[in-house]
This record gives sequence, C-alpha cells and structure tokens, in this order.
Amino acid sequence: MTTSRLSIDLDALKANWRALDAKSAADVESSAVVKANGYGLGAPRVAQALAEAGARRFFVAAAEEGLAVRQALGPGAQICVFGGHGKGDAAILEQADLVPMLNSVEQYRRHRQALPGAAFGIQLDSGMNRLGLEPADWAALRDEALAAGPELVMSHLACADEPDHPMNRQQLEAFRSMVAGVEVPCSLAATGGILLGADYHFQLTRPGCGMYGGLPFADAQPVAYLDLPVIQTRRVEPGEAVGYGNTWVAERPSLIATVAAGYADGLHRIMGPKTLTYAGETPCPIVGRISMDLITVDVTDAAEVPDYLSLLNDKQGVDDLAENAGTIGYEILTSLGARYARHYRG
Ligand SMILES: *Cc1c(COP(=O)(O)O)cnc(C)c1O
Repeated sequence: MTTSRLSIDLDALKANWRALDAKSAADVESSAVVKANGYGLGAPRVAQALAEAGARRFFVAAAEEGLAVRQALGPGAQICVFGGHGKGDAAILEQADLVPMLNSVEQYRRHRQALPGAAFGIQLDSGMNRLGLEPADWAALRDEALAAGPELVMSHLACADEPDHPMNRQQLEAFRSMVAGVEVPCSLAATGGILLGADYHFQLTRPGCGMYGGLPFADAQPVAYLDLPVIQTRRVEPGEAVGYGNTWVAERPSLIATVAAGYADGLHRIMGPKTLTYAGETPCPIVGRISMDLITVDVTDAAEVPDYLSLLNDKQGVDDLAENAGTIGYEILTSLGARYARHYRG
C-alpha cells in the first residue's frame, strides 16, 4: 500500500526557533526541546536543523532518546534529559554523554555514585508537582549540589499557555526564591513562558511546540505538511452509506475516495466529522468513520481527484486538527504515524 507523505519544512522550523529566540534578550540562551522523536517529526533531522539555526543545548525526555540525538549531532552539543538519572541509566548516560536533570535526592545520590564527576543539572518543583525537587528537599541538598557544579537549575510552568493565570506569577516567585544566589544558568520558560515576557526568561529558555508550528506560539510558521494517498474511488447513489456503522449516507450522487491513513497513523477517530482534506484548493470532507488504516472522503466537488489529498497544509494546521479532536497540537504532532514516509525540505 502506498504510504502517506509527511513533509517537514526545516526552514520554517529554523525560522520559528529564531523567532522565539528573538523574544528574549541577546544574553539569554535558547535551547531546543526534541523529546518524543522531535514532537513526532524525527529527532535526528530536527536536531541537526536546530543546531544549524544556533541551538547548542537540547532536551529529551528519556536517556534512550538522547542517544539518537547524540548520534545525529555528534560531540559538542549538550543533550539534557528531563527524566533525570533513573535506575539502570548510567551506561547510556555515559555512553551518549548526556546531562540528566536530577529530580530527587535519590536521583542525585544515584548519579553522583554511579558517575562521579559527570555533568548534571537540577530540576526543581515550583508548584506543578510533576518532576523536580520539592523546596524542602532542595533546601537540604542545595549547598552540596551547587558545590558539585551543576550545568543548570530549571523548573517548569504548569499554566504558561494562559498568560493571565495566577499560577504563572506564583511559580515565578517560588522559582526565584529557590534560585536566589545560584550562579549557574537558571531556566523556567518553555514556549508559553517565553511569550510571558522577560521576567520568565532567566538565562536559558526551552522552546518546544512553538518551533514545530504549534500553539501557544500563534505566529509560528507551519512545519508539518501531510499528504494522504488515494487508493480507490467509487460513485455512490443517494441513500447509500459509507464506512463502519453506516454513519454517513449520501444525499446526492457522490464520488468517494478511499485514502490510506487511519487512526493507527494518528488520525484520531473523533476528528472525523469536522475534518477536511484538500484536493488542491477544494475542501473535501472526511465522511463516515475513520478506521484503522483508511478514511473515506467526499471528493464530489473536486475538479479532478488527485493522487494525494492534503490533510496538513497552510489552510488546516495541527491546531485545527487538535480542535476537531478535542485535544492540543502537541498530541496531534506526536501521534503522526510511524508508517508515514518523512521528507525533509529546506
Ligand atoms: C516539553 C517540555 C518543554 C517544551 O515545552 P513546549 O510547551 O513544547 O515549548 C520544556 N520543558 C519541559 C520540562 C518540558 O517537559
């Protein structure tokens, strides 16, 4: 079966990184978050492009992800692991020269014991209660950890996509008091935090979703384009149904295209009723249920049926699909299927 084409515009990715970098002062460093395989777009190529744009420090979620990024970037770039130093991670951290963000006293002890002298960072919990040392643990560990020379001290905002949320200020104050007197680079802001302004920038920012073209960076250029192959077309008469459950019934003589992509490729079943594909400029709605490997599309209004229908383009982006699916652009991006052939341009 012909597979879908996921095209990744590396020039747009770089432009988004530069635009986010320009939102903080010149002496604030911008890193790049490439976890979850570069938000689904392919961490190796994405990381290489961002290194070309100027990123020197990268973040992944888990040590295994860091290995793939190290292989792509070679020595030199710093690759940090949000998840820290888990049991059994020492070998891969050492092999790939990764910098774990240590999240607990336990992780700190494990790291210093297994890899004494190896680089590390510290992640603090400023109120999200997900990862990082609690203020009391940090107070107890702080002098010892700072004397050992961490690469950075960071925390993460829970509500940065809502600029007026009181949690932002609250976490800012909590983080400020935890890093008072700390002389190594500090970092609080992901994409949302960058947009909250200079108070949130400290010495290092950590953009992710905005670089990949998603909210909350409303000015982002689209990065992901997705074209789905048409494998069959058929005419249906008024009254004929299409797909599982007979949920769509033709009201006019219709031309239906069967397209090779489904929920196993990240086209969430729930997005079906509201989502369009495009034959050139002509919108062609998905009709009937999205199934595992296939969707059906009403192409009656298309002047001709192209070999590929476009799902992600300049008219319909990841956040439009997210709205249709009741989710966020992050989940759409990271669901983009493993079966897609990824093409990089730029
Ligand atoms: C995912 C993540 C980021 C990047 O967040 P975006 O909202 O995608 O910019 C930054 N920091 C941490 C700790 C994260 O988990």
